[in-house]
Amino acid sequence: MTFPYGLIGLGNMGVPIAENLTKNDIGLIVYDIDDPSNRAPEKAHVAATPADVWRQAETVFLCLPKGDNCKSALQSLLECNDRVTSTVIELSTIGMPMAQEIDAMLKPINVNYFDSPMSGGVAGAKAATLTLMCAGSKDLLEEHRAALEAISGNIFHLGNEPGKGQAMKLINNFMAATGLAVTSEAMAYGVDQGMDLKTMLDVVNVSTGANVASQDKFPKRVLTETYDANFHTALLSKDVGLFHEGLKAAGLKGQLAPLIDALWKDADQAMPGSDMTEIYKLMQKKLKS
Ligand code: NAD
Repeated sequence: MTFPYGLIGLGNMGVPIAENLTKNDIGLIVYDIDDPSNRAPEKAHVAATPADVWRQAETVFLCLPKGDNCKSALQSLLECNDRVTSTVIELSTIGMPMAQEIDAMLKPINVNYFDSPMSGGVAGAKAATLTLMCAGSKDLLEEHRAALEAISGNIFHLGNEPGKGQAMKLINNFMAATGLAVTSEAMAYGVDQGMDLKTMLDVVNVSTGANVASQDKFPKRVLTETYDANFHTALLSKDVGLFHEGLKAAGLKGQLAPLIDALWKDADQAMPGSDMTEIYKLMQKKLKS
């Protein structure tokens, strides 16, 4: 049996993405290294191995944590002689050099690689309002527009070669990670000085210090003490690290990137398995260390 689409990686983002694809009657086969039978959408077919996906899906989305996971999943595509897959759409955040490396790896077997990292978090994935930062041929974008629109509210085309989508995604996440860290330190200082967290957020959010952390993450995830943005500190640390590496690979020197990179690496090490919003608790501790 052949499916128009496959999806490898059914984690926090992959599950709602798969649900939105199947809700739009897009035939889908899914695979995850950690058996996804209990979380895959009812209408999706679950594959037992990645090779089963390559043998049955014409276009395959990757939604995996890191570039190395993508490369290891794609290794079996290189070895699959009876593949029907002709296009791979990269939803994962893996950085520009890795996207270029994977593009070069797939070219000799005539598989198209389309860069399409996403922003919007789990809430955006559930609401099908993700922002997609695409780089690859415009023809491929048009060919897959219906599937991309089933998961996204904003589709941008940033270049004809895979990689620029990744660069754009890391620019965004570097800004988001910096905003969350700065807001955490500022709020931790205010609370230490006896001020009320909610009142401070109310002030900032009608003043010039407002950002996505103060308007969204803090009121919904920190003030509530739920710390449930569903974006792992490890993933944000990876993204800031990739941004920093990208600067260095381009022979550029960022002033903030080394500091923000070190801070998020430290957070990941100090709080394994944590949600990114838990950096607020770390910044409170760090004020007194
Ligand atoms: P996640 O850790 O929740 O899920 C990743 C899934 O991949 C897991 O189910 C894991 O078992 C599976 N996996 C790992 N290696 C595999 C392999 N070799 N083969 C098959 N399955 C494998 O991650 P996530 O939050 O869903 O994020 C996925 C990607 O999307 C990441 O690159 C992340 O940076 C990016 N992203 C995440 C968010 C977010 O809010 N979570 C937002 C935007 C972008």
